[in-house]
Order: sequence, then structure tokens, then C-alpha cells
Amino acid sequence: MSGGDNLEFEIRPNPAPVADAERAALLANPGFGRIFTDHMVTIRYADGKGWYEPRVEARAPIPMDPASAVLHYAQEIFEGLKAYTLPDGGVAMFRPDANAARFAQSAQRMAMPQLPVETFLQSLREIISIDRAWLPPGDEGSLYLRPFAYASEVFLGVRPSMEYLYLVIASPVGPYFSGGVKPVSVWVTPDYTRAAPGGTGAAKCGGNYAAGLSAQAEAIEHGCDQVVYLDAVERKYIDELGGMNVFFVLDDGTLVTPPLTGTILPGITRDSVIKLAERAGRRVEERPVSLDEWRTGAASGAIREAFACGTAAVITPIGSVKSAGGGFTIADGGTGEVTADLRKQLVDIQRGRAEDPFGWVH
Ligand code: PMP
Repeated sequence: MSGGDNLEFEIRPNPAPVADAERAALLANPGFGRIFTDHMVTIRYADGKGWYEPRVEARAPIPMDPASAVLHYAQEIFEGLKAYTLPDGGVAMFRPDANAARFAQSAQRMAMPQLPVETFLQSLREIISIDRAWLPPGDEGSLYLRPFAYASEVFLGVRPSMEYLYLVIASPVGPYFSGGVKPVSVWVTPDYTRAAPGGTGAAKCGGNYAAGLSAQAEAIEHGCDQVVYLDAVERKYIDELGGMNVFFVLDDGTLVTPPLTGTILPGITRDSVIKLAERAGRRVEERPVSLDEWRTGAASGAIREAFACGTAAVITPIGSVKSAGGGFTIADGGTGEVTADLRKQLVDIQRGRAEDPFGWVH
């Protein structure tokens, strides 16, 4: 890897940005992932040359040869994080260094070159600074940042590409749950697994999500909001949801979450929840939890809450579970006390409304 440190970005402002009035209308009801800002970041990579041509330019389609390696073998990785307005009017990101580190780990798993952490962070600062007007007003919305990289070499051989394109696009998003946090229902898929030991489960690569679409569709068919995966070896232990990690709250207040053994995504929200809980003196166990333990624990009260966590929804209570072997609710199916408390703590830190003991807000 070479040529990545302290890149000087060439700024080419969009000559035809969205007009103020139109942007304001779009920001009034942005939804998720449908509206985009005026610019994007691009950085190229070639073997022997390293990262080059870092640019901030008008967001536009990227011309692609039909033999581009990514279209055939899915050598692609991405990240997702949010920027939001602080009470003092400044703009913050939450733990972007952790996203940078995970992006580098994903690159390594997918045999891609690693973008230096500082370049990743700089690319985020560049797009926020040029597209700052796209931050939704108020203290609920945010600007979702989507850094990604893909194999751009025009070659059909199966081997790591020798050329890549890294991009960052940005999309204003509204509050994930308009009308407050509602518990979700989950479907434990008996048919699909997400990742096997030695697979790509810990990498944030597009292929993982393509493979999850059928499972998510199955969850919807069963009237559930989200899919839950069991481990691929014994089909017994809870791994994670399609796009979120999972926590259980025991009757003595202990938090339990599946361990990072390579088959689940190491969530930044997951890590933040563990650190916040431990700081507050709560016990946290990283260990396997079987579907049976969840079911019997929910019935006996030994497991009194469960929640899912990730960047998009922060912390979401899990109200009910359906599986091939039957369904059950967790406590009364509402939002548990510990879940609500952790959610508030995390959101308050993210939004600059509470002390930031770990220096997470950049
Ligand atoms: N698991 C999966 C499969 C995900 O896609 C995500 C979202 N990135 C998460 C967990 C949560 O990760 P994070 O807290 O870093 O958003």
C-alpha cells in the first residue's frame, strides 16, 4: 500500500447544485436512502501506484465497463455512519475512526487494498463540509454517509482486481422511527444462515446483504419486521439480525450478546453499548445464546428484555419472536427499562446532549 497518506483533495464544486427551495422541500421529509447530496468523493487505486486522484466532485453516475470485476465477483465493501448537527450548531460524526478500522478489516478479508484511516476520515470531512446544507434541520434527522469501494479492473479472471474505486456519497435521512421507538418483531429463519466460520460474516461486503434478501423476505412473509440468523454449524445459537446486532437483558440486569467469532458483524453500536454498560457497573457477557435459552428465558422471566442495535436505528427493542418451532413475546412485548435507558444514553452522547466519556463524538 502506498500513496494514501495526507492526500490533497481536488475540489470541483457541482456547477448545478439543487436549488435552496427544492433542497428545503426534500429535507422536510427525506425518508431513508432516496435523496442524495450534490457531491461525492472519489479516490482511485491501482496496483503499483497506490491511492490517487482524490476528488470532491458533482455526484453523478459512474461509467462502468461491463467487464468490471465487481459486476461479476462482487469484490466490494462499504460502511455506514451518520453526521448530525450539535446543539451549538457544529456538525459531528459518531466514532468514524471505528468505521475506518472496520473498513480496513473488510478490505483485508476481501483481498482489497486498505485505505489509510486518515484518508477515510478526511474523505468524510470533505463531503460534510461541502454538503453541509444537506443536514436535516432539527435534532432528529442526520446525514447518512456511505463510503464504499469496489473492484474496477476490466478483467474476467478470478483473482483480486488490480484497480479499485473508493467513493463516499451522502444521503439526508429523517428520524428512523417517526412517532417514537416501536418494538420490532423478528423471524428466526430455519432455512438460511448468514455466515459460516471462515466466511465473510465479519466483513461489511455487499455480497452478505445480497445473500440475506431472501431471508428478509421470508421474515416479511411471516409477518415479522426483521430476520434473525442462527449459527451455521449447529443451527442453534443466535448470531444477529440482517442489519443489527442483538443483546439480551437478564433478570439481574446482566447484558448478554453473541461473541465476535468471525460470523457476525462487529457493530460499532454493539461495542458502544458494551462500553457504556460496563462503565455504569453493569455486567456484560459475550457468549452464545441459543434460541432455546431465549424462549425458555422469556417464558420464565430469566430474560426480561432483548434489543437490536446498529447505526440506523441505534437501539430497537425486540418485542416478539417467531420461529418454525412457535412464537413468544419478551415480557409484555413493549420497550424494556434497560433498553430505553441505554438508548437514551447513547443518543444523548451522539447528539452532544450528554458528556462524552469515551471521546466518541468527532
Ligand atoms: N450487523 C449487520 C449485519 C449490519 O449490517 C450492521 C449495520 N452496519 C450491524 C450489525 C450494526 O453495526 P453498526 O452498529 O456498526 O452500525
